[in-house]
Amino acid sequence: MTPPDLLPWILALVGLGLVGAGAWALARSLASRWSGALLSADDGRTAPENLVSETHRLVGRPDEIWRRRDGAVVPVELKSRAAPDSGVLPSHRVQVEAYCLLLESTTGRSPPYGVVVYAGGVRRTVPWNARALGEVDRLLAEVRSEYDGRATPTPGKCRNCRWRNGCDVRAG
Ligand code: SF4
Repeated sequence: MTPPDLLPWILALVGLGLVGAGAWALARSLASRWSGALLSADDGRTAPENLVSETHRLVGRPDEIWRRRDGAVVPVELKSRAAPDSGVLPSHRVQVEAYCLLLESTTGRSPPYGVVVYAGGVRRTVPWNARALGEVDRLLAEVRSEYDGRATPTPGKCRNCRWRNGCDVRAG
């Protein structure tokens, strides 16, 4: 993967996104129906703090953190878009995996999974396991590596890219 191709992933990792306020509110309301205790929410219900991992040089904050009845903590990411037929979008998956890594690093306890909530409250789980850790580690290593000039953006690829206005290597 090349640095320009990574941009959407990077933006996902830092939690940027374009959301509709109505869908966002609906997703939050549906998310709050789950059992367990809400530990953190960045919508004013709590005073959330960033999760910081010095070891992984990673900072982030999920939309919500829940503690299940068995004590496990679970990060939740809310998305305004409809749930993809394919499951969880790769950029959403790696974002939630990064939150799992941050929770593991900061609490000392591994989340069993993370959750993405799509429009209408459609809930998809993202397992947190060795494969997921490997995916986050590979992406972080690639993001931090020196640009090697392999980028091959194309007009077709860039035309409808949501980040094209801020991308200095876009084609067309
Ligand atoms: S505008 Fe093109 S090169 Fe830039 S992030 Fe989007 S797809 Fe990649």
